[in-house]
Amino acid sequence: MHEMAIAEGILGIALKTMDENAATRVARVNLLVGEMAGVECESLRFCFAALTKGTAADGAALSIERVPLIGRCGACGREQPIERYSFLCPSCRSGALEIISGRELKVESLEVD
Ligand SMILES: [Zn+2]
Repeated sequence: MHEMAIAEGILGIALKTMDENAATRVARVNLLVGEMAGVECESLRFCFAALTKGTAADGAALSIERVPLIGRCGACGREQPIERYSFLCPSCRSGALEIISGRELKVESLEVD
């Protein structure tokens, strides 16, 4: 399962950060997830909760911030949200959109005790 692999990655980062800070518990994980990252958030929460049981991250809050899909038009230079996966510039109808955000999947910050 895709989300399980992601949850494992998050847990690995969390435990490493905890060690580096001489902490004993992971309290919160703040994640940035792009609209187009291909992650099912509910599934990720479920996997994370299951995976952290019995670890130092047991009970840690998983906060997920969705990042909208933003494209920059190569023809007119405008940056705007891409809606309904329409990859044409809403302003000039050019197809030269470059995605500048919305595909990220990263741990933005962690709180450890
Ligand atoms: Zn344009």
